[in-house]
Amino acid sequence: MSDNLERIDFEINYEALFQQVRNLVHNTCAECRSIGYYGEMVRCAQPGCHLNVHLSCVGLSAAPENGSWFCDKCQGCL
Ligand SMILES: [Zn+2]
Ligand SMILES: [Zn+2]
Repeated sequence: MSDNLERIDFEINYEALFQQVRNLVHNTCAECRSIGYYGEMVRCAQPGCHLNVHLSCVGLSAAPENGSWFCDKCQGCL
């Protein structure tokens, strides 16, 4: 019984850690490679890309009105 409980605890902690790493990756600017805790970030709207950059790093002063922004790579594929 106690073995089962310990295993459940481990799985929960592992999942939380995984989520933290995922958040870290999603908050890293692809241009300046720094964590995006400062400055507003925008995410590429191309499905499957999810590239994140600071607005200032791509020359924007505000997020696009319609919320759709495409990175250089995806823009070239449109
Ligand atoms: Zn940046
Ligand atoms: Zn993209």
